[in-house]
Amino acid sequence: MLVTIATFSFLHEARLAQTQLDALDIPSFIADEYTLSNLQWPYENIIGGVRLQVSEEFAAQAQEVLNEPVEIVPTPELELEPEPCPYCGGTLGEPYIAKPPPIIGWFFLEVSVRQCMACGKTTQA
Ligand SMILES: [Zn+2]
Repeated sequence: MLVTIATFSFLHEARLAQTQLDALDIPSFIADEYTLSNLQWPYENIIGGVRLQVSEEFAAQAQEVLNEPVEIVPTPELELEPEPCPYCGGTLGEPYIAKPPPIIGWFFLEVSVRQCMACGKTTQA
């Protein structure tokens, strides 16, 4: 028989907990995973969370594992290459998709650009 040991708001949280249990060879199941994987994020809350279940024999152990504080290893943020502005050497902002003027639109449909925060000129990212 399966016992719900934890409820998560988001599927990825449940997956993370599942990983912890996997590491200790505790088989676990994410209830509602099938339903959720077909839906986009906002619906997860409507359903009322994702249930992580284990079989009864593992319940106590699993709960203990999940109650232990998780060591949070900060994942290095994806840093953009510190590329200076080719015009003034200033800092470039986040890349964004620019829609080119219609005249050249037929050729470059979309182009990712970064705007210089110092001089305001854009460069292709
Ligand atoms: Zn610049």
